Amino acid sequence: MSYEYAVIGGGIVGSCIAYGLTKYSRQVAVLDEGDIAFRASRGNFGLVWVQGKGWDYPAYADWTWQAAAAWPDLAAELLETSGIDVGLSQPGGIEMCLEDEELSSLEDKMRRISEHTDGGFHYEMLDHSSVLQRVPEISKEVAGACFCPHDGHVNPLLLFRALHQGMKQSGAEYLPNRKIEKIEFSGEEFRISGDFKDIHAARIILCAGLQNQVLGEMVGIRIPVIANRGQLLITEKVRPFLKYPTLHVRQTSEGGLQIGDSSEEVGLNDSTSNSVLSMLASRATRIFPMLENVQVVRAWAALRIMTPDGKPVYQESESCPGAFAIACHSGITLAAAHVGPVCQWIAKSKLNPLISQFSSDRFHV
Ligand SMILES: Cc1cc2nc3c(=O)[nH]c(=O)nc-3n(C[C@H](O)[C@H](O)[C@H](O)COP(=O)(O)OP(=O)(O)OC[C@H]3O[C@@H](n4cnc5c(N)ncnc54)[C@H](O)[C@@H]3O)c2cc1C
Repeated sequence: MSYEYAVIGGGIVGSCIAYGLTKYSRQVAVLDEGDIAFRASRGNFGLVWVQGKGWDYPAYADWTWQAAAAWPDLAAELLETSGIDVGLSQPGGIEMCLEDEELSSLEDKMRRISEHTDGGFHYEMLDHSSVLQRVPEISKEVAGACFCPHDGHVNPLLLFRALHQGMKQSGAEYLPNRKIEKIEFSGEEFRISGDFKDIHAARIILCAGLQNQVLGEMVGIRIPVIANRGQLLITEKVRPFLKYPTLHVRQTSEGGLQIGDSSEEVGLNDSTSNSVLSMLASRATRIFPMLENVQVVRAWAALRIMTPDGKPVYQESESCPGAFAIACHSGITLAAAHVGPVCQWIAKSKLNPLISQFSSDRFHV
């Protein structure tokens, strides 16, 4: 089988790229490993989150902010092409701080992001009583918070389904149970092989999450990725009370609460641990005492795809032109940027000036 584009990996990133590429070609295939693969796309928190991103890297602040601004158009487009409402809500988001030092460090980061985006990025630092006005359920322990009007959340599983449905309807082929073991470049095309009949493609896009490092080496792309474990708690459904998503707790449209934001480097281990889950529960109840009486119904862990500096990588191979690699830890937030400018870069060689600042060359100077 032969395609113009073979996207390797069918997580959120690969699905965004395949969906976006169908606007340029009718010959797009997604080759995806089976159910045992690590899949961040099925275990994430669903935030479209701008605040805090890129305070130390101006291009990332801009990139994230632009991606979040493009989200409403993507949600509308997916509703039209797939018939699925991904549940986007962007009422603004809140990061709660329990300590004064935490609050002043956050304020410093927000000021720097605002400077990087020429004032386009807005935020408001809130003292305890201002937080209370927006979220009356907080405890006395909350020192203050940052409110950012660009933030929001989606249902990440519906997003996943909408992208898959949308790409199939637009002509892309999804090929599951294709674990890529070898990629060869003839000078004109790529031969992709594994435990299946060889597949040929003029261009390949590596979106294989934690496997991108191994696959990248086959086409001359050095893309360091580190597994970063995040654990999550899900509660029973409760009355709607949390109008704004927060970094640690968000209420889904069905009423359940997601509690999260842990970060650990434990290799390829995606099991949960009682110590981290109880830390998450304790922080959440310190912010919202009412949660003490709410039942937890599920918990899981998933592995983030982290680069050494935490910023995304967009790279085309120099030795095998036509091979691209993408790695990022905020694939939900950046979805609209991947469907839009990143696909334009791949299909039309139109390099958005921001994309060029995310080359993996920065790790190899
Ligand atoms: C706990 C947690 C919370 C998060 N919260 C948020 C959030 O709130 N907001 C946000 O923006 N982001 C969040 N993220 C990050 C987000 O989930 C990821 O950025 C995104 O899912 C990455 O998608 P991906 O497609 O690159 O990787 P994955 O979902 O890991 O997909 C990789 C795919 O590649 C395939 N694959 C691997 N190896 C091969 C191979 N050899 N051959 C073929 N296929 C292969 C796998 O089958 C898999 O489908 C969170 C992540 C975690 C873990």
